[in-house]
Amino acid sequence: MHDDSLPPTIDNPELDSLMLTIKSFLEHLEYTLGKDKYSASRYDIYNALAYAVRDRMVERWLDTQQHYYNSDHKRVYYLSMEFLMGRSLENSLINLGLLDEFKEAVSSLGYDFDELVEDEQEAGLGNGGLGRLAACFLDSMATMAIPAYGYGIRYEYGIFRQKITDGTQVEIPDNWLRYRNPWELDRQEHLHPVKFNGRVVTVHIDGKPRHEWVDTEDVMAMAYDTPIPGYGNNTVNTMRLWCAKSSREFDLKFFNEGNYIRAVEKKMLTENISKVLYPADNVIEGKELRFKQEYFLASATVHDVIYRFKKMHKDLRLLPDKVAIQLNDTHPALAIPELMRVLLDLEGLSWDDAWNVTTRVFAYTNHTILPEALEQWPVWFFEQILPRHLMIIYEINDRFLDEVRRRFPGDNGRLARMSLVEEHWERKIRMAHLAIVGSHSVNGVAALHSEILKNDLFRDFYEMYPERFNNKTNGITQRRWLKKGNPPLSALIDDRIGPGWVTDLYELEKLRPLAEDAEFRADWQKVKRENKERLAAYILKHNCIQVDVDSLFDCQVKRIHEYKRQLLNVLHIITLYNRLKADPSLDIVPRTFIFGGKAAPAYFIAKLVIRLINAVGDVVNRDPDVAGRLKVVFLANYSVSLAEMIFPAADLSEQISTAGTEASGTGNMKFALNGALTIGTLDGANIEIMEEVGRENIFIFGLTAEEVTELKRKGYNPREYYNRNPELQKVLDMVSGGFFSPYDANLFKPIVDSLLNQGDHYLLLADYASYIASQEEVSQLYRDQDEWSRRAILNAAGMGKFSSDRTIAEYARDIWGVDTVEISAQAQHCLHDGVCLVEHRKDEGGS
Ligand SMILES: *Cc1c(COP(=O)(O)O)cnc(C)c1O
Repeated sequence: MHDDSLPPTIDNPELDSLMLTIKSFLEHLEYTLGKDKYSASRYDIYNALAYAVRDRMVERWLDTQQHYYNSDHKRVYYLSMEFLMGRSLENSLINLGLLDEFKEAVSSLGYDFDELVEDEQEAGLGNGGLGRLAACFLDSMATMAIPAYGYGIRYEYGIFRQKITDGTQVEIPDNWLRYRNPWELDRQEHLHPVKFNGRVVTVHIDGKPRHEWVDTEDVMAMAYDTPIPGYGNNTVNTMRLWCAKSSREFDLKFFNEGNYIRAVEKKMLTENISKVLYPADNVIEGKELRFKQEYFLASATVHDVIYRFKKMHKDLRLLPDKVAIQLNDTHPALAIPELMRVLLDLEGLSWDDAWNVTTRVFAYTNHTILPEALEQWPVWFFEQILPRHLMIIYEINDRFLDEVRRRFPGDNGRLARMSLVEEHWERKIRMAHLAIVGSHSVNGVAALHSEILKNDLFRDFYEMYPERFNNKTNGITQRRWLKKGNPPLSALIDDRIGPGWVTDLYELEKLRPLAEDAEFRADWQKVKRENKERLAAYILKHNCIQVDVDSLFDCQVKRIHEYKRQLLNVLHIITLYNRLKADPSLDIVPRTFIFGGKAAPAYFIAKLVIRLINAVGDVVNRDPDVAGRLKVVFLANYSVSLAEMIFPAADLSEQISTAGTEASGTGNMKFALNGALTIGTLDGANIEIMEEVGRENIFIFGLTAEEVTELKRKGYNPREYYNRNPELQKVLDMVSGGFFSPYDANLFKPIVDSLLNQGDHYLLLADYASYIASQEEVSQLYRDQDEWSRRAILNAAGMGKFSSDRTIAEYARDIWGVDTVEISAQAQHCLHDGVCLVEHRKDEGGS
């Protein structure tokens, strides 16, 4: 930080650096953007600032990449169809250690830093947990100095922006690149053709048959690179996103017919591949365009990986010594047959060599056991679009099923279950089976989830390849989810235990004794209150609802999905409302219920749940009988930036999925890290959170995963619960009878129908009584603020395990076999006065 006591002389290096920052900003404003302080818009100011930050990263970026190239370390490629990055400006400055300097520069120029930060369009290239995990992993890999690349798609439109109009979700296209994206660099030279359609011919080379894929329609994949700075080190890794560009060739057919416009039109259509992110979470949309997107990512990336490998090596059989590819779910799993195709058809390897290389390179992470989310692509998609890959998949399957036959002779049921081809009705390729067979590692994302994979979903595969299966419990980066999102709490923690937690989250253990320190608890409460005030101001501004910061902030923010059971939360709200109406003098703990989350645009029930939350809010928030005691708020457009404001302000974290359905959850970790207590089921990572913070410091309710299975096996009848529990009965009757929809009495009937008449698939009624009772305990504890904060501190203290640094260390050790590569600090390259202090690199290095 700048020390005011130092005289402002040129011999003061800190001041020097500050002057350079200001100069850099002004130069970008003038020369990059062509503006002065009179003509600059707020976006220009933001962009000039962002370019000034990026410049500071570029030096370390080039050094890092050069070092990877020269040292020829094994690299990790993290392939993901989603990267939910959020904003970059403040995060980059924090990781570079330049936040204070830039804040000072900005304020000395007369601008408001916090306002400028808000002008950044966030990179919302993901739906939810899976995409955010990829983003946290990139931060951890850079911070831990692991030579890693994130590979994805540069969607022109990210996840839609959600508006709430008359209580209903409205989707607005997210045109995030409209005001330019200062964080990316286009790499015109990194251009790979990606082939589609066509047919396969066999040629003979030296008497041996070789397959050639011909008459294809090609789309060019162009690279855009974003720097990923590590925290407090000199590492800057790369996220490379592919953008679809039409190939230079015109379709000769149209050209020859003199139909020039038609030929150009056709070229343009190919660019649709990277146009838009599919907005469904935990459910597949079996569209041809999505299939093409997945292959586009897989193919462009495999070619890039091989291109980079070949700069240093000739023998592709050594690829697994230098390359580890992690598949974030099956979405990029076409990379497996794509690598096989390249090795067989282009590089001339034998099947056995190619297969050996492929299975040693790939590893697969499963993210869900929900059947509607398991990818299966129709065989006819392959026949039309990827004919050569279909041949390869059939060959993989033939050889694999031979192996199954040898291991389990006569077990035809097993053969049918394990085949890569689903034969019922329409023939389909089971992408999870392909990913398991083509990898050396299969992992789940929390202990319970990994057990379910072994014992249930992939049981046959576990019996055949037990050594492949492992667990990697998810984590989150504390740089974004505590240091950036919660400055007052970070400062308090720094003050008491030092800043070591930023790169070693287990340091938070040192907070444990402080939970018994009354003064610390008081400071802790003050921080929580400050964060609640910040969120309350946001709610007042955006929802026009005045909330009481002394009330319990009860938060459920995540994608809206039946399995996550936002509806169960609503049933609790209505229950409390009814109790207060029946006895207005009832002494309850005031609560503010805060919801946030997007529903997939085609997910009817999820959208109806959003309407119900808002409708219940309309009734509750206006009713004078409950005033000051209950408020319901739905925050529109849940996103990374909004999340950063909500977690620090939460008292209670709702993690109430049906046991066995949420693979891990990461929102649960962000809440606890920011000092919220959890009410949750024994599902996903909740179980491990309980183990870390202690059973007495978390509110656990409901059936266990085993009990859920058992109840369904015996035959679950939701009506029994309805008939037996008058309070529950009343709540459901109000929803189905139009109490919350007086102008459309039947509006919410489908919701109650799904519970009473369609089997209540997620067992809300079975868990209702237990949930209500657990919430009662929550309220009782909240009355004792001292004890509440004591437990909140113990929760934060137990979060060490849930840093994505720990998760990445485990992937690196158990799956990838890669080491850390420290990048030493180097002399600055080119200072802004144009003096070059180090010689320019001799070759282009490892870009
Ligand atoms: C962490 C996060 C998620 C995942 O939340 P879960 O509660 O684990 O489903 C989704 N969206 C955003 C914006 C997040 O930050």
